[in-house]
Amino acid sequence: MTVNLLDFDGESLTAWFAEQGEKPFRAKQVLRWIHRSGVADFDAMTDIAKSLREKLKATVVSDKLSDDGTRKFLIDVGNGNAVETVFIPEDDRGTLCISTQAGCALDCAFCSTGKQGFNRNLTVAEIIGQLWQANHALGAVHGDERVISNVVLMGMGEPLANFDNSVAALKLMLDDNAYGLSRRRVTVSTSGLVPVMDRLGDECPVALAVSLHAPNDKLRDQIVPINQKYPLKELMAACQRYLDKAPRDFITFEYIMLDGINDSDAHARELLALVKHVHCKFNLIPFNPFPGSPFRRSSAERVRRFAEILMQAGIVTTTRKTRGDDIDAACGQLAGQVKDKTRRTAGRVIPLVEARS
Ligand code: SAH
Ligand code: SF4
Repeated sequence: MTVNLLDFDGESLTAWFAEQGEKPFRAKQVLRWIHRSGVADFDAMTDIAKSLREKLKATVVSDKLSDDGTRKFLIDVGNGNAVETVFIPEDDRGTLCISTQAGCALDCAFCSTGKQGFNRNLTVAEIIGQLWQANHALGAVHGDERVISNVVLMGMGEPLANFDNSVAALKLMLDDNAYGLSRRRVTVSTSGLVPVMDRLGDECPVALAVSLHAPNDKLRDQIVPINQKYPLKELMAACQRYLDKAPRDFITFEYIMLDGINDSDAHARELLALVKHVHCKFNLIPFNPFPGSPFRRSSAERVRRFAEILMQAGIVTTTRKTRGDDIDAACGQLAGQVKDKTRRTAGRVIPLVEARS
């Protein structure tokens, strides 16, 4: 089998080089060429001995990306599956929203990824390859110019359900020989896999966003089914534990605004009681409708009033912008294309949403 160098983080590349009888500093050099300089051609790695370059030619640096010409990239990961990556430029930063799975098995009621079912975990190369390729496409592979300053694992899939590969990719993002991003600028978004949140805190603490979406178990059981396994009391305790290790002193709670479902004043007040002991910020996300979804987006006035209640209690609350082309809202409900393996969607007609251009 051909070895793909994008599959290695710093540690595993060093180990692989050792197996080849090469010195550890060679791994560091190669890592820098691939990730810092964005080089895929081994002949361009001028400080590497020719013999080693020849050996490396048996490997590839590849993740098969097709750019649709916009700042959204549709990545073909083979066998009829495609995942999406979105670049969101803002005044003071550029954020890349990365996918970790083809589909998702957790089946949240409002999520188009979830409704497509689950196919498979992405490999390390496919996860880090989204950053590698986006850097290329955005023209940021040379020098210290940083077009992508922030990364969020908020695309398709549940990153904590693909823990090992997500963490290896996170380690590359943080590695000074690769992307050198600060832990505070790399965010994992989870629907609340409680035991794995603890592992993340121990093995690779980065900023954490938790998809809350409901203030009580009765409602959350319905719209975020993983809540039946890890109810809110356990989730809040896990958030508190995470804060001991987190690079930031708050958890971001994501809260999707669904008209008439979870968006009343009473819901907002119930939330205040729920998060009383967790230092947090809220990010309200206006629901992004997709074909076949039973929900409606809350009105702008309702979102404003909901935010006001949280802010009056002293909680910093932002509302995610929905731009003309919805590229922001697209982050978190990326369409892609997934061949469901769980057969959950069999018999249900949910048209695939195509990548917007
Ligand atoms: N699985 C992880 C990360 C991917 S989803 C998680 O659930 O956190 C990223 C965010 O987008 C989550 O907060 C998710 O609830 C939200 N999201 C999903 N579907 C959405 C939709 N139709 N409109 C707006 N946001 C959505
Ligand atoms: Fe999976 Fe997140 Fe979508 Fe829920 S919201 S189905 S956890 S991707």
